[in-house]
Amino acid sequence: MPVIPRHQVLQGHSLAVSEGRITAVLEREAALAIPAAEHCRLPGHALLPGLVNAHGHSAMSLFRGLADDYPLMEWLHEHIWPAEATFVSEAFVRDGTDLALVDLILGGSTTFSDQYFFPEVTAECAATAGIRAQLVFPIINIETAWARNSEECLRQGLALRDSLRDHPLVEIGFGVHSTYSVDTATLKHVATLAHELDAIVQIHLHETRGEVEDSIARCGDRPIDVLSQVGMLGPKTQCVHMTSLSRGDFALLKDSNSHVIHCPRSNMKIASGICPTQRLLGHGINVALGTDGAASNNRLNMLAEMQAAALLAKLESLEATALPAMAALELATINGARALGMEKTIGSLEVGKRADLIAVDLSQPHTQPINNVISQLVYATSGQEVTQQLG
Ligand SMILES: [Zn+2]
Repeated sequence: MPVIPRHQVLQGHSLAVSEGRITAVLEREAALAIPAAEHCRLPGHALLPGLVNAHGHSAMSLFRGLADDYPLMEWLHEHIWPAEATFVSEAFVRDGTDLALVDLILGGSTTFSDQYFFPEVTAECAATAGIRAQLVFPIINIETAWARNSEECLRQGLALRDSLRDHPLVEIGFGVHSTYSVDTATLKHVATLAHELDAIVQIHLHETRGEVEDSIARCGDRPIDVLSQVGMLGPKTQCVHMTSLSRGDFALLKDSNSHVIHCPRSNMKIASGICPTQRLLGHGINVALGTDGAASNNRLNMLAEMQAAALLAKLESLEATALPAMAALELATINGARALGMEKTIGSLEVGKRADLIAVDLSQPHTQPINNVISQLVYATSGQEVTQQLG
């Protein structure tokens, strides 16, 4: 299942891999004739590009089940932020991230984006686990265990970015929490820095209709207008959630080539709202997929997230044709790679790309018979079918 070309399902094919890169896509007999250090046979499996989890807070896996069934602001102000003030430390982040990475890797993610405190610890965990990571260091105007204020967030985050320059697996960008938790002067400063450094910026944006309404009441503008005014929208900007969109919001996303990260299970669980994936894609806006943290999902499984995205898109539009299985698979692979600025190296099985591969076992009763491989992957899997990560 190379993802590019679209809809192509290559049966009886193999990949040749050398030094971590795909060197050929060829028929099995031809592959077996190649002298190789190892031939890996995977009967009954679909071979896919590793999944890209484009938004999460790994260490929050330790908060899984801690505060379920609350609306966003009550969840955040009365449960999550107090719990973070009590428990978050370097050791917490190490333990929580390690737990999340096992979960992510077993579920088929080979690349993840993470926004959390002590990103230097998350970077170590990712490098040790051998998973590709885009860490966006948190910028927020409240005192945390990691930094006293947004200035300290920036100082520490930029120092980390410098120390990990050219790291083979870990990239550091800016993780602005939201427009309601970061003042406009800081947003402007971050936009300028990110532009100068050509760095990724990720922000929670339009997570709920209430966020949009509060912003209008506070400053007269919608959150995305605030970003536009400070110069933060652009091809390196990832807008996470994006529910409650107006026609003007679509135009701003499209004209700036910003990316949308859709977190369907988190949005459903907190009753945040619905990101209109099908309409965004129809406007030519790139939409990727993220699990968000385990405190608001509570899974970190990208097969489950793909399924949720496909089902939710149909319900949102009342169109069964919305977000078909292939489009859902793209959200979790090549679109994720595009959002993270990694589309030249990952996201599809093409010669020259990194061999970030997963094998999904489709031989079990609930995934048989295989009338359509892509459909089976998106609609029939339970999330436990990934048996191998190769490369
Ligand atoms: Zn989030």
